[in-house]
Amino acid sequence: MLKQIDIRLLPEAAGDPGKIIRKASQKTGVPVDRILDYQIDRRSIDARGSQVLMQLRVTISDEQLGSRIPDMMKLLRNVSSAEEVIIVGAGPAGYFAALELIELGYKPVILERGKDVRARRKDLRAIQQDGIVNPHSNYCFGEGGAGTYSDGKLYTRSHKRGSISKILNWLVAHGAKEDILIDAHPHIGSNKLPKIVQAIRETIENHGGEVHFNSHVQDFFLKGKQVEGVIYNEGQFRKASRVILATGHSARDIFNLLEKRGICFEFKPFALGVRIEHPQALIDEIQYSQRPRSPYLPASSYALTCQVQKRGVFSFCMCPGGLVVPAATAPGEIVVNGMSLSRRDSPFANAGTVVSVGAGDMGVDVLQNPMAGVEFQAGVERLMFGAGDGSQKAPAQRITDFLIARISDDLPPTSYIPGIFSAPVNALLPHFVYEHLKEAIHKFDRKMHGYLTEEAVVIGTESRTSSPIRIPRDQKTLMHPEISGLFPCGEGAGYAGGIVSAAMDGERVAKAVAISINSN
Ligand SMILES: Cc1cc2nc3c(=O)[nH]c(=O)nc-3n(C[C@H](O)[C@H](O)[C@H](O)COP(=O)(O)OP(=O)(O)OC[C@H]3O[C@@H](n4cnc5c(N)ncnc54)[C@H](O)[C@@H]3O)c2cc1C
Repeated sequence: MLKQIDIRLLPEAAGDPGKIIRKASQKTGVPVDRILDYQIDRRSIDARGSQVLMQLRVTISDEQLGSRIPDMMKLLRNVSSAEEVIIVGAGPAGYFAALELIELGYKPVILERGKDVRARRKDLRAIQQDGIVNPHSNYCFGEGGAGTYSDGKLYTRSHKRGSISKILNWLVAHGAKEDILIDAHPHIGSNKLPKIVQAIRETIENHGGEVHFNSHVQDFFLKGKQVEGVIYNEGQFRKASRVILATGHSARDIFNLLEKRGICFEFKPFALGVRIEHPQALIDEIQYSQRPRSPYLPASSYALTCQVQKRGVFSFCMCPGGLVVPAATAPGEIVVNGMSLSRRDSPFANAGTVVSVGAGDMGVDVLQNPMAGVEFQAGVERLMFGAGDGSQKAPAQRITDFLIARISDDLPPTSYIPGIFSAPVNALLPHFVYEHLKEAIHKFDRKMHGYLTEEAVVIGTESRTSSPIRIPRDQKTLMHPEISGLFPCGEGAGYAGGIVSAAMDGERVAKAVAISINSN
């Protein structure tokens, strides 16, 4: 006998097997002593009513249930002497493309400009503590890409683009908690991600794939309109007839290379704004009506969105119990983003709060200048840097001062380790971005009373929400329409926006590569 039901329990009861079984018995009429086993299929929080409840989808059974975790390693074979496919970039798109290639019988050769997860940590410390940005090793570049020292939220809206559960199963197979398979908003945390990323690399290498760090790809080797390999580290050459380009949204040198080589790409709309940080206790009070929150509840989150004069303004990458981090990829720029540890126990809640930016905002014809978005982003990042003392300290303003365009006399505490300084963030942003943010903040406060408070701080600038570029690809072959053998992939090419969607795009592109090799 198997039955699946939805039950709602107080947070303190949701981890108690006895209470789960009793509730399931009440709901189904199946006597408690006939329920021999159960499994939770889905878990979410319902904070809509006066009492916060955990909502569980539970399967009950009168016999022992087996493990739900598939043996993912069974899918892989040894590809050490198979045809090689080059993957540029070891982010989620690159690593999941590699796993899929191995499954399909091809050998991935990954070239990554940054360092392995361990060595990368030293460079993150240098950014945080000394304000030194290594252009090859930072919060965006290095093993695991921007996904490694990220928040590790794993939800995506790209349900149609591939199998989310396959991505989650791979992560579990490499050390992520099984909870990510059932949570409505799965999360790993930046303290756990590096080990998982390293384990994925070991799987790739153990099955015959190659991963090369400190390997900065600088050019394509082209024979007419056919890619024949890549050139990296000032003249080294690696040959392959298929190249997956998965370099992420911050690889501006790759966009420059495409331009130099006359390989077509397009402007893509993106979003830009600020990161707003609140005390987590305040967000808990708004969302759960609890201060302090119950120890059985996770730090609360929010997702806000509104239209201001027909333009979208929205919260982005909200990190409950998290930290604001310096995500610049070159000296001379200030870029902020957010992350959290698996326990999400910092006293701060932060979220990007960004305004949609389109071709009409560029002031140039984006068909003539597809780099306009990159230049726009870079311009704001440089302005933010220029307002400071040459370090990674970020300009900031109390949200109440931001709204009336006044420099703050003092600033509230922040999680941002390099530090923040009082500056007119309102004036450093493009005027339309500021005007839209201003109106949206009032709207957000109407949705979440207490959001607009002098305890909240606005930090500049959140500029790398997504790629300002799309590298076109044929809808069927997923190959670049002009360059045979070149497969644009992941967030940098404009086909993903987050860890899971980038990973799914990696798998999709790997399948397309296999089809193209087979059809030769
Ligand atoms: C701080 C932070 C927090 C985030 N939090 C989340 C989150 O919680 N959830 C979520 O879904 N997403 C989050 N993101 C976004 C997510 O990390 C990205 O969407 C995702 O990593 C994109 O994957 P990708 O493989 O397409 O590109 P990337 O992860 O950007 O990887 C690209 C890789 O290519 C390498 N590369 C670039 N140029 C070259 C070159 N010329 N030669 C060789 N290698 C090169 C880079 O070093 C990098 O390792 C966060 C990002 C940041 C920065």
